[in-house]
Amino acid sequence: MIIAVDGTLASGKGTVSRGIAKHFGLPHLDTGALYRAVAVDVLKADHDPLNAEQAATAARNLDISAIDQDAIRTAEAGAAASVVAVQTAVREALFDVQRRFAEQPAGAVLDGRDIGTVVCPDADVKFYIDADPHVRATRRWRELVERGDTVQLEDIERQLVERDARDSSREAAPLMRAEDAILLDTTHLSIDATLAEAVRIISNKTGATPGT
Ligand code: C5P
Repeated sequence: MIIAVDGTLASGKGTVSRGIAKHFGLPHLDTGALYRAVAVDVLKADHDPLNAEQAATAARNLDISAIDQDAIRTAEAGAAASVVAVQTAVREALFDVQRRFAEQPAGAVLDGRDIGTVVCPDADVKFYIDADPHVRATRRWRELVERGDTVQLEDIERQLVERDARDSSREAAPLMRAEDAILLDTTHLSIDATLAEAVRIISNKTGATPGT
C-alpha cells in the first residue's frame, strides 16, 4: 500500500504522514529532507543554490544515510531547498531513491510536494494537506523558536508566502493537488484530529488494518 501525502509548508503533512506510517506499520520517507540535504551540501560547499549544475551534482552525490537532521531543519536550509528544487536535474537525481523507497514490498508513506502527481501517481490513497498561511506561519515560527532560533513571525510569514509561490509556480513538478487527492484542511482541525481522519479514510478505502 502506497500513501502519498502532499501539501504546503507547515500544513502538518509531516506529522500526519509519520502518524499514518506508525499506525499501519509502514516505512515513511520525508522527501523534503532530501531537497533540504542537497541545499545544505550546496551551501556548505560555498556554492550557489541557483547554479543548476552545482545543485545537480550535490543531488547525485547525496548520501542519504549521512543527512544531518539538525542542519536541514533551519529556515535557511528550507529556503535554499525550494531554490534547488526548481532545477529539473536535481529532481531527476532524487527521483530514483524516492521510487525505490515507495516500491518496498510492504509499501510506504511518502510526503512532499509532488508525490501524488509525479513520484507515485498510482498511490492507493493521496492526501493534499493545507491550512491558512497565517496559521501555518505561526506553527513554523513556534517550531523554530522552540529549537532556539531567533526569528520574527512576520519574516517567517513572508518567507512562507514566497516559498509557496516558488513551489507552486515552478515548471518542474509544481506543488499542486492531484485530481484524486483528498483535501485535508488543518486550519481549524488539530493535527491529531487530521491524522485520525486520514487513518479512517485509508482504512475505509483499502481495508488496511493497524500494523505492528
Ligand atoms: O517539506 P519541506 O519544507 O521540508 O521541503 C523543503 C522544500 O523542498 C520545499 O519547499 C520544496 O521546494 C522542496 N520539495 C519538493 N518536492 C518534494 C519535497 C520537497 O520540491 N517532494
